[in-house]
Amino acid sequence: MTIKKDDLVVVLAGRERTKRAKVRQVMPKENRVVLVETNIAKRHSKPGVRGARQAGIIDIEAPMHISNVMLVCPNCNRPTRVGHRMLPSGGKVRACKKCGSDIP
Ligand SMILES: [Zn+2]
Repeated sequence: MTIKKDDLVVVLAGRERTKRAKVRQVMPKENRVVLVETNIAKRHSKPGVRGARQAGIIDIEAPMHISNVMLVCPNCNRPTRVGHRMLPSGGKVRACKKCGSDIP
């Protein structure tokens, strides 16, 4: 996963293409991300069903596939692919492919 919680991303596909949103949650196993107030789906729930918080129609933020979003570099403010740079300590840090700056 090259995208983490609280990253800013741009949506590349669907109705909300070009929209920018913050990452609420990442689902590494499914390669999906949930974005704040993006890809809203209507979920119909019946009253009295166990686990339903609320009867009627509720809005949920549906997960979208990681390939449909792109990270926005906090340094140059452009959507970019993510590279990695090795640190002297042996760790890795994400790096913007466009401006080359590190992304924490
Ligand atoms: Zn950049």
